[in-house]
Amino acid sequence: MDFRLTPEQVQIRESVRDVVRDFSGEYWQKLDRELGYPTEFIAALTKGGWLGALIPEEYGGAGLGLLETSLILEAINHSPGNAAVCHAQMYIMGTLLRHGSVEQKKRFLPPIANGELRLQAFAVTEPTTGSDTTKLKTFARREGDRYIVNGQKVWISRTEHSDLMLLLARTTPLEDVAKKTEGLSVFLVDLREAIGKGITVRPIPTMMNHHSCELFIDDLEVPAENLIGEEGKGFRYILDGMNAERILIAAECIGDARYFLDRASDYAREREVFGRPIGQNQGIQFPLARAYAHTEAADLVRFRAADLFDRGESCGADANMAKLLAADASWEAGNAALQTFGGFGFAAEYDIERKFRETRLYQVAPISTNLILTFIAERVLGLPRSY
Ligand SMILES: Cc1cc2nc3c(=O)[nH]c(=O)nc-3n(C[C@H](O)[C@H](O)[C@H](O)COP(=O)(O)OP(=O)(O)OC[C@H]3O[C@@H](n4cnc5c(N)ncnc54)[C@H](O)[C@@H]3O)c2cc1C
Repeated sequence: MDFRLTPEQVQIRESVRDVVRDFSGEYWQKLDRELGYPTEFIAALTKGGWLGALIPEEYGGAGLGLLETSLILEAINHSPGNAAVCHAQMYIMGTLLRHGSVEQKKRFLPPIANGELRLQAFAVTEPTTGSDTTKLKTFARREGDRYIVNGQKVWISRTEHSDLMLLLARTTPLEDVAKKTEGLSVFLVDLREAIGKGITVRPIPTMMNHHSCELFIDDLEVPAENLIGEEGKGFRYILDGMNAERILIAAECIGDARYFLDRASDYAREREVFGRPIGQNQGIQFPLARAYAHTEAADLVRFRAADLFDRGESCGADANMAKLLAADASWEAGNAALQTFGGFGFAAEYDIERKFRETRLYQVAPISTNLILTFIAERVLGLPRSY
């Protein structure tokens, strides 16, 4: 057993840090104030080939595994920045890679790898059904060589900054399927054609600058060739993607936690009150030390989950635990950092309050902490299903 990163993996993390270093706290603060999108940051990541990390080399990507990809996102969050502006491209890709046809891969992957096409939007959540995904109501009806889609989605992030969107919809009514996970299908929707012609987008103002939107879908036409895999098997396809998503979000939380701990430790060493550094007080040291220990423990589970995923082995429990532990660690570290900075923690120019708001999301999305706990209770511990 070797817990160390390989030299190549260390190099990946360092190379991304080099890109990220050019984007300062002021850059992210301005975007936060103006609800802007970091176009220049995305361009720099694309130029470095980092957004095509998971795309195989034969399609123009870097051909990296999920573990390496998680290092990229960790490095972004271990800075004043936030990988939520681009992370979907990483985990959405997997559905197309593993379940798309050769034609679809040839058509979409090279332009995604070189940045001509952005695949940044993933439409699952609906306003009336929330975490109960298999009850979603958006319906795609086959008519000849196309599907006609009607429904509504909520919290679909980056819709306005993406060319393509992965959409989960029902294709067989819930009452006609033997298992509720059947009869759902995944489509690749071309947003450049669909917005204003079947999809109406309404941005949702939120606690942080997250570019999330509500989508109203009325008689949207999607060519049948944009169905991914087999009709009715979509839920199984996106489950793989959801495990990848949880591992990558865990890595982002680890990055956030390390950012908070670095900044808070530096500040606690330098800030003198009552004639000595505040970091000399155990009341300041202990919350940081505890958050550090929790971050390192979460990191190990993240690596185990990523390793299982890359080997093609079952990783549901580990992916969920990694997300749970890492989200808790980043929240704990953020809280300890805010306390360490005292009043200055609340000033936008220090970046702590913004990163604190941003990392809070991971207790709720992409899956809430409670739902992870129900998964572990039921699937790992064999306890009766609670809902
Ligand atoms: C900023 C942001 C960005 C997002 N981006 C996307 C996106 O790009 N694409 C997308 O599809 N979705 C996205 N989401 C949606 C996100 O995945 C959901 O918000 C999340 O899954 C929770 O669903 P919900 O909000 O409907 O909460 P609900 O399902 O209504 O749950 C509300 C609360 O009740 C708890 N709860 C519900 N059922 C149970 C139970 N049985 N036992 C215990 N507790 C329970 C939940 O844990 C939660 O705390 C985003 C959300 C946010 C806030």
